Amino acid sequence: MSQESTHTLIQQAIEELEQLKANVSGRVCTPGDPHYAREVSAFNLRSQIRPAFVVAAETPEDVQIAVRFAAAHGLAVGVLSTGHHAFPPQTSHGAVLVTTRTMRTVRIDAATASARVGAGALWSDVVGPAQRYGLAPLNGSSAGVGVVGYTLGGGLSPVLGRAYGWAADHVRAIDVVTADGELRHVTAQSDPALFWGLRGGGSNLGIVTSLELDLFPVTTFYGGGIFHPAEHAESVLHAYRQVVENAPDELTVSVALLNFPPIPEVPELLRGRFTVHVRVAYLGSDAEAEELIAPLRAVGAPLADTVGRRGYDTFAEVHQDPTEPAPYEDRSVLLTELTPEAVAAVLERVGPASGSAVTVLEIRHLAGALSREARLPSAAGARDAAFLVWGATVGPPEVVDAGTEDMNTLLKDLTPWSTGRLYQNFTSREAVASDVFAPDVLARLQRIKQQYDPRNVFRAHNHNIAPTSGPAAR
Ligand SMILES: Cc1cc2nc3c(=O)[nH]c(=O)nc-3n(C[C@H](O)[C@H](O)[C@H](O)COP(=O)(O)OP(=O)(O)OC[C@H]3O[C@@H](n4cnc5c(N)ncnc54)[C@H](O)[C@@H]3O)c2cc1C
Repeated sequence: MSQESTHTLIQQAIEELEQLKANVSGRVCTPGDPHYAREVSAFNLRSQIRPAFVVAAETPEDVQIAVRFAAAHGLAVGVLSTGHHAFPPQTSHGAVLVTTRTMRTVRIDAATASARVGAGALWSDVVGPAQRYGLAPLNGSSAGVGVVGYTLGGGLSPVLGRAYGWAADHVRAIDVVTADGELRHVTAQSDPALFWGLRGGGSNLGIVTSLELDLFPVTTFYGGGIFHPAEHAESVLHAYRQVVENAPDELTVSVALLNFPPIPEVPELLRGRFTVHVRVAYLGSDAEAEELIAPLRAVGAPLADTVGRRGYDTFAEVHQDPTEPAPYEDRSVLLTELTPEAVAAVLERVGPASGSAVTVLEIRHLAGALSREARLPSAAGARDAAFLVWGATVGPPEVVDAGTEDMNTLLKDLTPWSTGRLYQNFTSREAVASDVFAPDVLARLQRIKQQYDPRNVFRAHNHNIAPTSGPAAR
């Protein structure tokens, strides 16, 4: 759609904005509104989310009204939770953006080992309450990521994923507002196609107002981080290959090369120096764990070692992800194997002697239950991959540009081991749906899109999936 015609549609919608404001319980903001900046703010400060209007939904009815309003005016719709995922700016320009920050209700049902979470819930809202019943969700590494966006994109848990599978595999029911404004309760029985497609297709098919998720009986694990100095980098990566080669599904180990600048926001241990961060999580006895990870300790004296028995609610200590928004650009690749040649490429491009500007390069071990077919199949996950390599460069534009160039070169070097597709939750801004989904999966998603959103209303803040009858939005 041309900029001119979008402008005309927005002008027509503005005339009815007072009516929209009167109908919803949440706030409606336009770019001049003092609340607008907060509503469109994102974790990645390089995101430029500039919709025509924001509806800060407080209830599923607000979401329905917003979707009907946008559809009636021919405007695109997007949904934003925490903004942990960045998309190109044009994907939200001129759109109606539904934000879900206040829809954070969480209900734990110990009898059925499940959680029902609202659209805006963060993992920090779920883990503590679930632990009170001795249960844990398949959350990611960061407590501040949104449950719904994470789960619909696959959901790779660095503590429980290899043992139990993708978070998307453990969704019981989805309440979703589709493009016709209907609020549907979707299960594998009620609507198998939509249930399959939402887990992967996500915000292309509707706005989820709540999810019902499986919980697992986990209260503690053996885990934490080992921080090695730069000179151990090569030995650590080779020890890592050895450890993961025979790892049981209960063991998850990832490695991150950290290259933080000397700024006060960075913990003293990591400030202004290159470090190698080994992240460990094991769901068995301490003695077994110590034997399994021994090669990673044997490479030499670490700078710090926090690995030990810990409560599940300290999961965020394993990866120690940043909690404050920052400007960054990321790139990723899925690998079928981590060969010595692949390790050499990583060290050459972003290792301690490379002079690279990349801030974080992490290698996560997948496989285990993550490679097995789910009981309730979905469009999500990366089942043919054994490793995820993800790199991000944080900082001012010139640093980000230099680091991104290094990452692009590294990705080219890793092509021989690439699965050829990306893991949806770790895609860069430029990625498109065909980078994520296999052709048959994408074709099926397009047919579901055609059925539920033939006019491609849900085309903002996502990797757009085109209905079979038309092109994707970019
Ligand atoms: C520090 C950090 C750590 C991370 N760790 C992990 C990890 O361990 N494992 C992992 O798998 N991923 C991880 N991620 C990636 C993260 O899961 C994705 O970026 C995810 O998309 C974030 O979801 P969000 O809702 O928080 O973000 P948003 O940017 O708000 O949303 C992301 C996508 O989900 C859609 N969405 C959000 N809410 C809804 C809704 N109610 N209905 C329909 N669609 C919706 C949005 O439209 C958008 O397309 C991490 C990201 C960061 C920055």
